[in-house]
Parts: sequence; structure tokens; C-alpha cells
Amino acid sequence: MSLLFQVLASGSKGNAILVCSPKTRILVDAGTTGKQITQRLERTPVPAKRLDALLLSHEHVDHVSAAGVISRKFNLPVYMTRGTLQNLPPSTGELSSVTVFTTGRCFEVGDLSIHPFATSHDAGEPAGFIIEHEGTRLGICTDLGIATNLVRARLQGCHGLVLEANHDVAKLMEGPYPWFLKQRIKSKHGHLSNEEACTLLEAVHHDCMQSIVFAHLSETNNHPDLVLESCRKLRQSPEWECVRFDLGKQDEITRPVELQPTAR
Ligand SMILES: [Zn+2]
Ligand SMILES: [Zn+2]
Repeated sequence: MSLLFQVLASGSKGNAILVCSPKTRILVDAGTTGKQITQRLERTPVPAKRLDALLLSHEHVDHVSAAGVISRKFNLPVYMTRGTLQNLPPSTGELSSVTVFTTGRCFEVGDLSIHPFATSHDAGEPAGFIIEHEGTRLGICTDLGIATNLVRARLQGCHGLVLEANHDVAKLMEGPYPWFLKQRIKSKHGHLSNEEACTLLEAVHHDCMQSIVFAHLSETNNHPDLVLESCRKLRQSPEWECVRFDLGKQDEITRPVELQPTAR
């Protein structure tokens, strides 16, 4: 096993992703309940008590609501930017220990190299991640209003990618959300649409890409069929035929993905 990941929960009601090498097991975000994360981890190769660390992408409650509980119960160090730390909801409570990282600066957790990068989102100091083990790279990038040049550059060369496909623009605009919220979601500091996600995928495709998991789908402004339809042409083209596509879900864990260090 080189690098394995599994999306435990994905969407506006909570997010958590398990990432592990043979020696190191981390959770990226803990945005549902501690009980739910613990139960979902029981269905993976890594029970919660074997986790080594928790990484937080930003302080929004759908990413941190169980951070305090999980950190205290399993004595987990928590890694985040200073801006995330300063904006954590008071309900988070004490954390077992905190390590502040800086976007643009790589750090190690066990035998995983973490490369955090800045994203454009309405939070204190949000981050996406490249998580690397012996040359195999997983990109995790949700909660971004726009795919900046920096994001495009960072996501080059990933073998696997958990990428936001939050909304279908037409469904969002016709939907029930108030105008200000529609504007926020569509803005450069909001969330990535299906079309924007597919455009970004085309820009970062390479021959060693193995797995894409679309994540953070809105239950109100999107539908799995719309996501798949948006990238239908792309999925049907020959250079993408060996790439496996999955959809992150709010109520179910995805199947595990084991990334290989070389092509396919
Ligand atoms: Zn979110
Ligand atoms: Zn957010």
C-alpha cells in the first residue's frame, strides 16, 4: 500500500477524509459528530484510536465541529493555519495539542509530507493540501470560490484528487436560497461549481492520474447526475478512461482508493 484515502463524509453538513500510508494515519477535517466519525472509521482499515493527527482546512463548522471531541478523546495533535486557529468556534473547546502551519511551507506528519496551499474562501486562512508519500500525491481541495493559478499549479501531478463540485449554477440560481447566499456561493470566496471543477480537472490532467472524488456537493443546489453530466465528455475521452470517478456523500463513506506510485 502506498497512499490510501477514503472520504468519510462530504457536503455542507460535515466533512472528513481519512488518508494513510502504511505507517501514518491522518484525518483531514472533522466536521460531523465525533460519534459519527468514530463509527465511520470502524468501517475503514483505521479505527479512530489508531489515528496519528488531525489536519484542518479551515474553521467553518462543517469542517471542525468534532475537532475538539476527536482530538481530546484520541489525544490527537491538530494542525491548522494561524488564521484557522484564531477563528475556531468557541464550541471546539480544548485541543490535545496544536501545531500551526503556514501555507506554502511543507511539513511532515510521520512519513507523510503535507504541502498546504492557500485557497480563496471566506474563512480566516483556508488551505488545500497535497499529501505525499514516496512520490505518490493526493490533492484535497474543497471550499474554494475560484481555481486560482496557485491552485492549478499545486494540483499538477496528483495521482488522486478530492475536488469540490459544489453546485450546478442554473440549479443554484433557480433554487430556494436567498439572493445574498446565492451571490456568496458564486463569488470568488464561495464554492466551486461543477463546470469550474471540470475545467480545473482538464488543466491538471496527466498520465498518472488514477482517481477523482468529487466532494462537497450541495444537497440543494446540485445532484450527482449533474456532476457526472458536467464531466461526461471529459470522462469519455481516451486519456481519462483509466481514471476512476467517485462522488463524496454526506451519509455514506466512499470506497477506499489506494493510489499507486506509478501510472495506473
Ligand atoms: Zn465546507
Ligand atoms: Zn467553508
